[in-house]
Amino acid sequence: MAWVPSLFESVEINSDFAIMRYAILSDIHSNLVALQAVLAHLERRRVDRLICLGDIVGYGPAPNECVQLIIDRAGLCMMGNHDWAVLEEETLADFNAYARHALLWTRKQLTASNKAFLKTLGMMHIEANATFVHSTPHVPAAWDYILSKWEARQQFSFLQTWLCFIGHSHVMGIFEQRQNKISYGKVNILPLVEELRYIINVGAVGQPRDLDPRAAYGIWDSDKEQVELYRVEYDFAQTQRAMQQANLPQYLIDRLADGR
Ligand code: ZN
Repeated sequence: MAWVPSLFESVEINSDFAIMRYAILSDIHSNLVALQAVLAHLERRRVDRLICLGDIVGYGPAPNECVQLIIDRAGLCMMGNHDWAVLEEETLADFNAYARHALLWTRKQLTASNKAFLKTLGMMHIEANATFVHSTPHVPAAWDYILSKWEARQQFSFLQTWLCFIGHSHVMGIFEQRQNKISYGKVNILPLVEELRYIINVGAVGQPRDLDPRAAYGIWDSDKEQVELYRVEYDFAQTQRAMQQANLPQYLIDRLADGR
């Protein structure tokens, strides 16, 4: 298996063909059981490089374990708003009471070295004609969402690459730009067309919100020119028990079972 355990050192990528299969994960949210299920799933799918789009922490019960796994397994990771919030004291006003509670808890749990790692995360990365970002390609640190075709149209006008991979909304889906027309849809396999452009939301590993509780992630195969969007079953009851033990808010515990 051609796994690249590159540990955030710079990887030589001189052509679009250097890397064939990218696994793209986002919004892990300290859900170790979901992350392990996704890693096991993608290991059977011959992935060359793993990119994380951020929000490793927040909401869930295992922040240190998740940060450690991403350090070990991902070639690159972007900054998410929850990763940012555990580092910056003043930003919690933007979060609802449940998220705030979990973030304060996470700040106490995280080791100094894992916090130091989160501090190194970049906001946006461009590679092989694709943009990788947690929220939007325009102003990543504004943490805006791309939920509507109208918002997607704005973002396409700032996008400098053929593809853009995002997370943040925890809702898997694809915006496609065909000349001036934007369409939105959900498919398992997306054949990529050179004349079109795409903003692809790979969904959330650790807290899906599209009424499907299974973990979500994507694979971009630059050789076959397609994106594969996967859902992976995991034992969410195990994560819920760990959250109960950590006294995390009941609302955050319940939502994992419903995918909302
Ligand atoms: Zn998130």
